[in-house]
Amino acid sequence: MWPYYPDLLATPVPRYTSYPTAAEFGPLSATDHAQALGGAHGNVSLYVHIPFCEKICFYCGCNTGKAGKRQRLESYLDALCREIDLVSDLLPSDAAVRRIAFGGGSPNAISPAEFLALVDRLTTQFSIDDPVFSIELDPRTFTAEWAKAIGRVGIERASLGVQTFSPHCQEAIGRIQPESLIERSVGLLRDNGVSSLNFDLMYGLPDQSHEDLRDSLEQSLSLGPDRIALFGYAHVPHLIPRQRVIDGNALPGPADRFAMASLGHELITSHGYHAIGFDHFAKPDDPLAQAAATGKLRRNFQGCTDDQSTILIGLGSSAVSSFPKLLVQNEKNSGRYRMLASQGRLTTSVGITRSTDDQMLGRLIENLLCAGRADVPQFLQRSVSDGLEPFIDRGLVTLDGDRLSICSTGVPYSRAIAALFDAYRPQSARRFSSAI
Ligand code: SF4
Repeated sequence: MWPYYPDLLATPVPRYTSYPTAAEFGPLSATDHAQALGGAHGNVSLYVHIPFCEKICFYCGCNTGKAGKRQRLESYLDALCREIDLVSDLLPSDAAVRRIAFGGGSPNAISPAEFLALVDRLTTQFSIDDPVFSIELDPRTFTAEWAKAIGRVGIERASLGVQTFSPHCQEAIGRIQPESLIERSVGLLRDNGVSSLNFDLMYGLPDQSHEDLRDSLEQSLSLGPDRIALFGYAHVPHLIPRQRVIDGNALPGPADRFAMASLGHELITSHGYHAIGFDHFAKPDDPLAQAAATGKLRRNFQGCTDDQSTILIGLGSSAVSSFPKLLVQNEKNSGRYRMLASQGRLTTSVGITRSTDDQMLGRLIENLLCAGRADVPQFLQRSVSDGLEPFIDRGLVTLDGDRLSICSTGVPYSRAIAALFDAYRPQSARRFSSAI
């Protein structure tokens, strides 16, 4: 069990999937976006957002809506294809796509035939160089036809939204999926070539006991995923109205949440998984564990990754693009997104230019969260010394010259420690979720 210091976790902090975080985004012109695309030389990664799900879970904070009407899906896919054409035309000829990730929402809210047509559009429009494909999947709507499409494209990495196996927790979060469904999805994915399979799991759910969590973890481990991401449920109904259905009184308190994160860490690592960053786990031979072992672990909008590219191009409504000097988010509203794309315009909505300081602090925060250590120049040490002191005093971090290292007992405090270096944080703390 990790040592629990509630005072060090009292302030809500971001997950730092980017720095500056999305909370700092402001209006941005399409000209800035176009210039960044025009300067995207070398290896680039693509993220393609499908903002639809067959059934919406009560807890979900993603930009997604009910798949419902066919016509809505089709017009969205039309707009996405137009954006693909426009963005690919703006890229320089030496930009080579080495990764393509599909997320959402649930990419399998569209039909396998529509998915294959989308992949075809991407591979004909972009200059593709033996890419690594990955996809997020909703097991509730995952079919044998979909599995075949995955095999046909050659997707080796997939992530299943498992969350919990406890029936009463599933009911409380509006996501009913029996274990047999997950087992079947795992079998279909393995049979169709997926070699790196992730399970997303959650703690801190309504009426979830420690036993519930332990059972879900053990059931998950028995199905042999290559990776596990264990997230704490973030209850922010003032920001995500669909969470109002969840009874806030049924949620575990901060001490319980901390104990659950600790239980998950102990149980998963005791089965031979390596802890990656502060909330991911991977088998030692998985590319994520190998990236962590060789100091190549990174963080992007999808969490921990072994992707080395410094350029991630987001396609689809609300998708975020990351360039060394710019972060850009596409229009979130799918109606406006479709209108802009159909007019042949970039769907730029908000973003932020990354100053030299932002880039330096972003690297520092990323190093702390991925490698558990970072070099901190003296002037920065002085500016965070008051905040850092309680972590040093309690043996959660060490500072040796310029080297700041997070101890094994300090792992659950990683985000709070990283947040000390966030120059924007004093103004934006209210907008984030609990630090554990
Ligand atoms: S399936 Fe995933 S993206 Fe869709 S509503 Fe549920 S949690 Fe959100």
